[in-house]
Amino acid sequence: MSSLISIVVPSYNEEKNVVVLYRQIDTLFASLDYNYELLFVNDGSTDNTQQVIEQLGTQTNNVFFIQLSRNFGHQAALKAGLDRARGDAIISMDADLQHPTKIIPELLKNWEQGFDIVTTQREKTDGQRFLKKTTSHLFYKLLNSIADIKLHPGAADFRLMDAKVVRVFSNFNENQLFIRGLVHWLGFKQKTISYTADARLNGTSSYSLKKMVRFAIDGFTSFSSKPLWIAIYLGFFFASTSLLFVPYILWSYFTGVTVPGWSSVLLTIVFFGGLQLMVLGIIGTYIGKIFTEVKQRPQYIIKATNLP
Ligand code: UDP
Ligand code: MG
Repeated sequence: MSSLISIVVPSYNEEKNVVVLYRQIDTLFASLDYNYELLFVNDGSTDNTQQVIEQLGTQTNNVFFIQLSRNFGHQAALKAGLDRARGDAIISMDADLQHPTKIIPELLKNWEQGFDIVTTQREKTDGQRFLKKTTSHLFYKLLNSIADIKLHPGAADFRLMDAKVVRVFSNFNENQLFIRGLVHWLGFKQKTISYTADARLNGTSSYSLKKMVRFAIDGFTSFSSKPLWIAIYLGFFFASTSLLFVPYILWSYFTGVTVPGWSSVLLTIVFFGGLQLMVLGIIGTYIGKIFTEVKQRPQYIIKATNLP
């Protein structure tokens, strides 16, 4: 019997894209010797995504949906899909057709050859905005130099994982998921293949600059405690250099020119105030993470599904 392949697709306001994606996948698998299930995770869409995938589900026998109770974010939606996928291999991809389905046979070929995780690397995106291109490039450069993990620039959540890897991954309960980094951390036999991303078919990217900055900060702080060390070194450096001020202060005191010194005092206060805020911010980010993790809330809540 041929293996079952699950395709997990987190979808947020993708009403115009899901059917196109389904057709592409269905045509592709018609020529492959595999069974497949297509699992859409509706991440609290505000458009008709739910109706469209529900209808697809009734018209076919291998399209399934998971409806989350609200928008939990791309990473949580993906985790929801991975947790419920039943295939022998699970492929995750975006709904907006930026991840070309034509790469799927290559993913499967590598899986057959014994790779447990086949990740993909984006070479260049047709029609991607300059801002997004440079920010994502910078992001990976920074992440690799600061965090304790190695990530390829252009790594996206388009990959194949063997069922045994996905089962391990399902046991991860952390709330601030950064799946890209975790996958590398998992180990197993991994391989990376390259592809050219297409432009988004319909709708707009829901990763605004603000979201991307958040994602970047999450990436750093989930995989590294180095920023805390930076905070400590910075604090130490400035605290010791500020000691150099002492002779000057004493001199000013004895020569009676204390009042003209207000500008340097003000400068110091402003400078150290800023520095302290920055360091507090770094520490606060970690405390915030501890706070969300200790609550042990579920990563997502399923409202409805047509999975048996
Ligand atoms: N997505 C999601 N929840 C969100 C935002 C996005 O499930 O809160 C999905 C979206 O439908 C798409 C994928 O995640 O399938 C990637 O999102 P997008 O295309 O907006 O990101 P980009 O390609 O710009 O990185
Ligand atoms: Mg996209």
